[in-house]
Amino acid sequence: MKLRMNLNNIDLKCENCGRELTEDNIYVRVINGKEHYFCCSHCADAYKGE
Ligand SMILES: [Zn+2]
Repeated sequence: MKLRMNLNNIDLKCENCGRELTEDNIYVRVINGKEHYFCCSHCADAYKGE
């Protein structure tokens, strides 16, 4: 069982496809004033939010 630290950081997963993110492939886009994390610009484009 993993303990999760809920800091100001988000989980490092693409919010569109769920792929794990690393510092090398992380793609950040600000949507509605909030940072969202994706694996690529394609996922950022596909992300609709809620
Ligand atoms: Zn993705």
